[in-house]
Amino acid sequence: MSRPWNFSAGPSALPLEVLEQAAREMTDWQGSGMSVMEMSHRGKHFTQIRDEAVADLRELLAVPDDFEVLFMQGGATAENAIVPMNLIGRGGAGKADYILSGSWSNKSYKEAQRYGDISIAASSGDSAVEKGVEQGPWTWFPTPESWKVRPDAAYLHLCCNETIGGVEFSQWPDMADVGAPGVPLVVDASSNFLSRPIDFSKVGMVYAGAQKNAGPAGVTIVLVRKDLIGHALPICPSAFDYANVAQAGSMFNTPPTYAIYIAGLVFKWLKRSGGIAAVEAENIRKAQALYGFLDGSGFYRNNVQAEVRSRMNVPFFLQDETLNTEFLAQAEARGLLQLKGHKSVGGMRASIYNAVPFEGVQALITFLQEFERQHG
Ligand SMILES: *Cc1c(COP(=O)(O)O)cnc(C)c1O
Repeated sequence: MSRPWNFSAGPSALPLEVLEQAAREMTDWQGSGMSVMEMSHRGKHFTQIRDEAVADLRELLAVPDDFEVLFMQGGATAENAIVPMNLIGRGGAGKADYILSGSWSNKSYKEAQRYGDISIAASSGDSAVEKGVEQGPWTWFPTPESWKVRPDAAYLHLCCNETIGGVEFSQWPDMADVGAPGVPLVVDASSNFLSRPIDFSKVGMVYAGAQKNAGPAGVTIVLVRKDLIGHALPICPSAFDYANVAQAGSMFNTPPTYAIYIAGLVFKWLKRSGGIAAVEAENIRKAQALYGFLDGSGFYRNNVQAEVRSRMNVPFFLQDETLNTEFLAQAEARGLLQLKGHKSVGGMRASIYNAVPFEGVQALITFLQEFERQHG
């Protein structure tokens, strides 16, 4: 049986091995006589599942001991409020700064305005000439030299992979070099989490909804430096106060047990696959193959500045957009699913997360070539 290749931006493809293991364990998890969905979260079985998930995640990303690993709910969207409610009170100025680089960072910025004095440190919302090439709005990333971070801001927020625009920013600076030593960087990594290593010396907090690259919808992973927590605003719901969640080992209330279990299976699959370094190398190979093909073609194009193209989400356009409907219909008939671009950008988007192997990218490129041959 061959499954179609799934290029969804999220919820997205999961490793087949993980789905098959979950199927085998569906009605009886490892001789317990229960499905994971039927277990008390405080019992020994689920406690073991939670502990292994935390340990495996710490090992995969080499999470330092001074960071908490939290499993929360509400997605990255809820974190847009939970982050300021937890962090903006630290230091007393009630300020936070945001970098705008596309849809998701704009949403984070808007939500944060409800909780304090929020300022834009930099934005790629205008066209710019980058390396001699005219770049349209949201197709480039402001370089750290241009950031204006207030030294008394409680944190600086950025989105390191704009899932919709296909812009990925990986050169996280030392905050001292942007004139704001001591201002922690807070990163929304929802769509490239576990696709590459994280330099924890550069960040105070990283968060990610699981359903892009780490597991199913329903669990949000938060990695936060311990000294940043414990300053939640009085209005912060108790269940969203990082201090409470940390103290309770992510069980302040009933956690999303099944989503944590599946994410835990994904972590074990990543370990078997050679860990993050091996997975990153594969992601580079996949992205190079796809962008290389698009750049060499006069039939398709990607508009993102080369240095900040996402390895995970590859938006592209047909030069002749009247062919879009036929392109998507033929792709689906060939077992290449969910290639339609986000409505705000249009065109197509291929999300090539960890669970889409090189073979899937090759199948896409073969189809792109054939469609071009038919219509070019
Ligand atoms: C998907 C996504 C979100 C929103 O996630 P929800 O789980 O729907 O709240 C936020 N940020 C980024 C970068 C995303 O990819």
